[in-house]
Amino acid sequence: MEIKDYGIIISSEDFRENDKLVKIYTKDNGLIISYAFGAKKSKKRFGGNLVPFNLSSFHLKRHKDYITIEEVRVIKYFPEITKSIINIKILFNVSALLCSQRGHWDTNLFKLLYFLLTNLNDAKEDNDRIKIYLIFCFYLLKKEGIINAQKICYICKDKKILFIASDNNSIYFKCPSCANEKELLVKIDGFFLEFFIQALNPTRTFLEQKFKKDALLKILSIIDPFLKRYFNVDIELLF
Ligand SMILES: [Zn+2]
Repeated sequence: MEIKDYGIIISSEDFRENDKLVKIYTKDNGLIISYAFGAKKSKKRFGGNLVPFNLSSFHLKRHKDYITIEEVRVIKYFPEITKSIINIKILFNVSALLCSQRGHWDTNLFKLLYFLLTNLNDAKEDNDRIKIYLIFCFYLLKKEGIINAQKICYICKDKKILFIASDNNSIYFKCPSCANEKELLVKIDGFFLEFFIQALNPTRTFLEQKFKKDALLKILSIIDPFLKRYFNVDIELLF
């Protein structure tokens, strides 16, 4: 069966002597794990088109047990994207998170990945890079239906929230009296709360707003254990 789709390669690794194992996040078919046979032997066939994190059009073929890349053509390059070390670490994490998402894809996630790449490619400062990465992470958690974003204590409905917490099924806020040591529990402040709520449904104003790098890194350190727990992946620290 033939598959024609747009996609973004999120990882490409050597496989056997002459081939490559290529993971593609596609627009209409979600995550596809495919093989580019002969990619290492013949440079002519795929050229530089198997480099990750460009927007490409794919012609794939579904065999009984595997999928092969028949043809790939880059439509849009993001030439600046790997020139920043922070971007490289972010892309490593994004790739790990998306690969753990098998089966839970949607077209919005593809659009979000494209939006992330465009912004990482254009970003001039680390704070902009971290912010866009945070928005991506919050979207993933929201999409999985594990965030309860009401600004009240999950148990007693009190407005004095002091913690973000999680059992194994969802993420919610808690007041000091309802905090429970058996949960994953991290202390938060007003800035985290505001950023968190806004990042879940980002407005144009929020997207254009500048934040301090340290403040964003603190948010990242708070959310990091939740990401690791839910997606069960190794996440590289950005700094
Ligand atoms: Zn409470």
